[in-house]
Amino acid sequence: MSYDDQNIFAKILRAEIPSTRIYEDDDTLCFMDIFPRADGHCLVIPKTPCRNLLDASPAQMTAVMATAQKVANAAMAALQADGITVQQFNEGPGGQEVFHLHVHILPRWSGVSLRPAGQPGDMARIGDIADKLRAALS
Ligand code: 5GP
Repeated sequence: MSYDDQNIFAKILRAEIPSTRIYEDDDTLCFMDIFPRADGHCLVIPKTPCRNLLDASPAQMTAVMATAQKVANAAMAALQADGITVQQFNEGPGGQEVFHLHVHILPRWSGVSLRPAGQPGDMARIGDIADKLRAALS
């Protein structure tokens, strides 16, 4: 399996399509998922190409997980979350739909289930939540 630089997250990285960015450093970018399964659902990706965990370098994994930890702690504080679910899928049969490594950060609240995948979020609400996450990350 080879990396296709026309995947949607590669286009987001190159700013060819819009995204709601909440954090970036030299090695990673975090932006809001537009089909959020929970309030604050966001995605952490490396800035360099790899499909998923199976072909990522240790340096890419380290950078992505360090940012995932940072964003998860920010979400706990900014959104008063009770917990965080971290998801990461590999290849189609493993549940992956976009073939640029990404980690899902899903804030969780007691008694609140994840919403089904694929439901478009309210972009105004996503923007408001992104503002809170950015403030906690700054
Ligand atoms: P996967 O199943 O590959 O782990 O998940 C891909 C994720 O990307 C899904 O949660 C989906 O909602 C999200 N997604 C798909 N297309 C877009 C897009 O154009 N922009 C953003 N921000 N997220 C997307």
